[in-house]
Amino acid sequence: MKKKGKSRKCPFCHILFIPCGNNVHRQKYCCGTDECRKVSHRDSSRRYRESKRDDRKWKKEECERVKDWQKQHPDYWTRKKKRKIFLPTHSYVISPRHKK
Ligand SMILES: [Zn+2]
Repeated sequence: MKKKGKSRKCPFCHILFIPCGNNVHRQKYCCGTDECRKVSHRDSSRRYRESKRDDRKWKKEECERVKDWQKQHPDYWTRKKKRKIFLPTHSYVISPRHKK
């Protein structure tokens, strides 16, 4: 008897999984961990942006959307930097290349 669901290997965590339901043909990553879902999302949004690369109207709208978002979240970048302080200091290697 032939198996119904074909298993696939997740390119991120390398486990075998069976794509679910109506997403069988497109699902590349498993949905086991948060990291796989994040990578999957990043990958699909990158592909989406690439497909829109020659679309000037979309680019303009996207640019405005991002600018609006930045206006609404002016502390986003500083907030992200502050979070990095929690890294353990002993594994902190400051590359001399960053200094000039
Ligand atoms: Zn995975």
